[in-house]
Amino acid sequence: MTTALIETLPSVEAFIARTHSSFIDGRQQPSTGARRDIHNPARDSVLSSTLQADPEQVEAIVQSSRRAFKSGVWSGLSPAERERILLRFADVVEAHGEELAQLETLNQGKSIHLARAVEVGASVSYMRYMAGWTTKIEGQTLDVSIPVPAGARFNAYTRREPVGVVAGIVPWNFPLMIAIWKVMPALASGCTVIIKPADETPLTVLRLAELAIEAGIPAGVFNVLVGKGSEAGAALVAHPLVNKVSFTGSTPVGKQVGIAALDNMTRFTLELGGKNPMLVLDDADIEKAVAGAIGGGLLNQGQVCAAASRLYVQRSRYKDFLEALSTAVADLKVGAGMDPQAQINALVSRKQQDSVLRYLDIARREGAQFCTGGDKPDLPGYFVQPTVLGNVEQGMTSAREEIFGPVLSVLPYDDLEQALAMANDSHYGLAASIWSNDLGRVMDLIPRIEAGTVWVNNHVPLDPNLPFGGYKQSGMGREFGRAAIEGFTESKSVCITY
Ligand code: NAD
Repeated sequence: MTTALIETLPSVEAFIARTHSSFIDGRQQPSTGARRDIHNPARDSVLSSTLQADPEQVEAIVQSSRRAFKSGVWSGLSPAERERILLRFADVVEAHGEELAQLETLNQGKSIHLARAVEVGASVSYMRYMAGWTTKIEGQTLDVSIPVPAGARFNAYTRREPVGVVAGIVPWNFPLMIAIWKVMPALASGCTVIIKPADETPLTVLRLAELAIEAGIPAGVFNVLVGKGSEAGAALVAHPLVNKVSFTGSTPVGKQVGIAALDNMTRFTLELGGKNPMLVLDDADIEKAVAGAIGGGLLNQGQVCAAASRLYVQRSRYKDFLEALSTAVADLKVGAGMDPQAQINALVSRKQQDSVLRYLDIARREGAQFCTGGDKPDLPGYFVQPTVLGNVEQGMTSAREEIFGPVLSVLPYDDLEQALAMANDSHYGLAASIWSNDLGRVMDLIPRIEAGTVWVNNHVPLDPNLPFGGYKQSGMGREFGRAAIEGFTESKSVCITY
C-alpha cells in the first residue's frame, strides 16, 4: 500500500500544467496536430498534454536542424568551445536534477530513487564523459604506395567529420537517459540532433531541450519532435535530409526503421530488444545471485532492454535458488514511484500492463509454476505484482519472448553445454550474465555466449566507456565510448600529392 509521497516541486507542477509541443529553433512551437494526454501511470490519471506534430512540423524541424548544421553555428565552433558548452550543459542538468527526476517519475512511473540515480545521476556522468570526446576526435596518417606520377610524393590521412542531421528515436523505459545517450555524442561530434521521444513520455526531453538553450547550445542545434511514432517518427526517419538515425526500441519497429533509412542510405544504429539469460553455475553464491536477479531483472519493473529475464540455474542449486528468490521477491513493496519506500512501481502504460498480464495468462496455460505474484495488485495505477515463474521450459513463451515487465522465469539445467545451448537459443543477443567464481569455466563461457555484453557476477551495470549494443536481432552498431563518436561521424580520406 502507498505511504507518504514526496512533495512535488513547484517547477514540476508548472511544467506539467503546460500543453507541450515540438521544440524547434529554441522554443516549443504551436501545431495543428491532435492533442494527446500524457498519463501518470501510478494513478491512472492525466498528468499533462501534448500537441502532436503535423507533417508541416516534421518538415520544419528537419529544415531547422539542417539550417543549424549548415550555418556552422555549432560544427564551426572549436572543439574546446563545444566541450566547454557541453560541460556547462551537464552542470545545468545536474542543477535541475531533482526537477527532472520528479518529472520522469510522474510521467514514466519509475522509482524516484532510480530517476535520481540513473536518469539524472548516470546521465550527468555520461554527459561529462561525452563532452570530453569533443576535443579527442582524431583520424590517422597512412603511408601509401601510389606509383604515378613518377617521383611524386604523397601525404595521406583520414579525418572524421560530423555526419550532419541526426534523428534520435527514443523508447519510454528510460526517456531522459536514452535521449542523452544520443544527444551528447551527436553534439560532441559536431552534428545537430532531433530527438523523437516515445509517445507516452515526452516531458523530460522537452525540459532537457530548454536546459540546452540555458547552457548556451544555439537554437536549432537540439530540437525535439513530439508526435506519434508511426506517423511523425516514420516521416522523420524517411526524410532525405536526415543523415543518421539512432534508434532505440523494439525489434519489429527497429527493422522498419532500418529499411526506411536504407532507402536514402541514411546511416543507422539500432539498439533493440533482448531476452537476456543469467547463468547460475553450481558454485555460485546463491545469496548474491538472488540479489543480482532482483537488481538485474526487476529494475524499472523489468522494463529494461538488458534485463535478466531467463534465469538458468544448475539443477543441484535450483530448488534453493528458486525458494530464496521467491521469498525475496514476495517481500518487495509495490507502490507509486513518488513513494520512497516502494520497490516495485507502476508500468509505463495501461497497454504495457495489459501486455504483461497477457504473458502471465500464457505462462499459466503453458504450465509454469507461479512461485509468487502473477496478477495486478489492488492499486489504481498500471501495476503488476513482481512474479517468479518456476518449472519453465525452454519452449515456453516466458522463456522466449521479451515480456518487458516484472517477471523472472527460472529454468534448471544439468550441464554447462546444455546451459550454453539454451542461453544461445534465442533470436535476441543483447546481454547475458554468468554467476560463478570458477574462473576457468567463466573464461571458457564468455567467448561462446552470443551477446553484445557479458557480465560476470553482476547484471546490468553500464559505463559510458564500454560499448553497448546487440548481437543477432538485438541490434546493429554500438553506442557509448569511441563507437558512439564513430557512429556520428563520417571518415574522409585525404591524399595530397606534392
Ligand atoms: P517501440 O519500438 O514501440 O518505440 C520506440 C520508439 O520508436 C518510440 O519513440 C516510438 O514512438 C517510435 N516509433 C514507433 N514506430 C515508429 C516508426 N514506424 N518509425 C519511427 N519511429 C517509430 O519501443 P518501446 O515500446 O517504446 O520500447 C520498448 C522496447 O525498446 C523494448 O523492446 C526494449 O527492449 C527496447 N529497448 C532497447 C534498448 C537497447 O538499448 N537495446 C533500450 C531500451 C529499450
